[in-house]
Amino acid sequence: MSNPKRRIAVIDASASDFLLLCEYLNLEVPGRYGCLHFPDFATFTAKLATMATAPDIVLLDCELPDGSGLENLRHALEMLPLTPVIGMSEQMLSSVEHEALDLGASHFLAKDDLTPRRLAHIIAVADAGERRVRNLVERAHFDSLTGLANRNVLKDRIGHALERCQRSKESVALLLIDLDDFKRVNDSFGHDVGDAYLREISKSLRGAVRESDTVARLGGDEFAILLEGLRHSEQAIQIAVKLLDLTNTPMKLGDFSVQPGMSIGISLFQPESSRFSAEWLQKAADVALYRAKETGKNRYFVYTDEMDQQIVRNLDLDRAIRQALQKKELVLHYQPIVSPGSFNIVAFEALLRWQHPQRGLIGPAEFLPALEKLGFMYQVGNFVLREGLRQFGRWQSILDESIVLHINVSAAQLSHSGFADMVRAELEAAGVRPGRLVLELTETVLFEGTPRLQNEFAELEGIGVRFVIDDFGTGYGSYDYLKHFPIHGIKIDKHFVDAIGHNQIDCAIVRSIIGLASELNFDVTAEGIETPQQLKKLCELGRPNMQGFLFHRPQSAMAVEQLASERWPARSAIGLAASGVEAAG
Ligand code: C2E
Ligand code: MG
Ligand code: MG
Repeated sequence: MSNPKRRIAVIDASASDFLLLCEYLNLEVPGRYGCLHFPDFATFTAKLATMATAPDIVLLDCELPDGSGLENLRHALEMLPLTPVIGMSEQMLSSVEHEALDLGASHFLAKDDLTPRRLAHIIAVADAGERRVRNLVERAHFDSLTGLANRNVLKDRIGHALERCQRSKESVALLLIDLDDFKRVNDSFGHDVGDAYLREISKSLRGAVRESDTVARLGGDEFAILLEGLRHSEQAIQIAVKLLDLTNTPMKLGDFSVQPGMSIGISLFQPESSRFSAEWLQKAADVALYRAKETGKNRYFVYTDEMDQQIVRNLDLDRAIRQALQKKELVLHYQPIVSPGSFNIVAFEALLRWQHPQRGLIGPAEFLPALEKLGFMYQVGNFVLREGLRQFGRWQSILDESIVLHINVSAAQLSHSGFADMVRAELEAAGVRPGRLVLELTETVLFEGTPRLQNEFAELEGIGVRFVIDDFGTGYGSYDYLKHFPIHGIKIDKHFVDAIGHNQIDCAIVRSIIGLASELNFDVTAEGIETPQQLKKLCELGRPNMQGFLFHRPQSAMAVEQLASERWPARSAIGLAASGVEAAG
């Protein structure tokens, strides 16, 4: 394919000089440049304002009778910071040459000293320099995979859009877009297909909006669209609907076909709005996106004022959590797991609590999601591991040798490499044998697990650490991950336990989970046992280990020590008596 013509603006009072320059270029490099003539600087600036793209090179006569030549040069350089501007004079040794170069002209030429070759050479050199600069600038502003604007550009454009919208009295909307299950595309079809998918989606997004709207890739599978000049906020929703329509048809990517899916969070900015910051617009779209995901994916959600409270709460929570970490208000409680026969304690699970100065003890359901969203989970997860192991290390003298410690591990902790090293170091520091540590993972973590993680887990298994799947049965219904990760046990989710008294299907599921586990030689624990009836039913279904309020609630470290000194008077005795289940081995 031939290169498009480079456009040169020649600002020179003399039409005959202009024609001569064109002639020279045509002789030397025919067809390479297209020249535009502007008899004076005012004509040039007026035209520039209406041009879709700036000229690639400017030739400017700097030696005007009224002395304004250098001033024009300064203006041209200001208006077109990335375009090379070449100064000109009639004759060699012009008095303005040095000043022009000092101001920033790329080159300086004297018209009476030109040959076709010399002119073409000077222009080619200036042009090459310009393209290098442009490439650098593009790399800093555009995403290399999709060619879309990047996060920095978006931020900049939001700032300008908000300023303009105050003047124009039109609305601005920000759409944050997150592809649903992108990871699955990558994992199932490979990264090349994943990349092609991202490029196709980018094209579709670009095609769905006006040229003047900004489409950006924020990283991974996250995109944003900034819509400006909206008369009605519904226009933003129409765009969202148009985008979701794209997901109705599978996307052909080479030999593969991918079903696209996306969640969209929308925030709107009306000129009369009292909150006026780019940060607010982004936060609001983010909250809306989160809602869209939460309520079932492949949908849009518009930020509403009622959600404002949530932003405020999140910001408050953000502050409060930072403080909690500093003031060491996060603590661990420990819930025993008992064996089915004797109801002896076989393990303790460490569970996170927030000892809030005003609100008292807060459970993780209230603050873990925020910790994840605010990016604290890595830090907090490591704290749990360290604190749990130190505590357990101190208990070793009072605990039976066979009792183990369960620690919950979140995805965020595993997203960095070095998890295995960290666990090993904490075990050593606490003086706990690796065989006494059991890590609880969710199916999501395993499903999304990478080969790097497989290696780290294999390394930990090598020294004796064990892994169990928490909340088993609530995840994906695909158990492929069992082949890739060293799993030693499963914990049957509480909602099955809740249902076994009255739901045949759940009963059958629990029975088959226990069957599967025994076939694979896994330990099984049932979680959340509250009633003697549930206990009885579980014993019929296969006698897993048990954890639940019926036996022991989660309790502070001090309470655990107290319990140990009383030789574990199991609450289970109560349950046992009521259930009529024998306590035999
Ligand atoms: P999980 O790991 O499945 O923990 C079991 C949850 O069930 C605990 O809730 C426990 O208090 C509760 N539970 C136990 N027995 C019963 C019962 O008989 N009835 C009822 N209603 N509930 C029972 P908790 O402590 O609120 O923790 C909730 C979840 O938060 C945990 O579920 C776990 O996923 C997460 N979590 C807690 N601590 C940590 C932690 O340190 N790290 C990570 N990554 N996650 C944690
Ligand atoms: Mg757990
Ligand atoms: Mg659980």
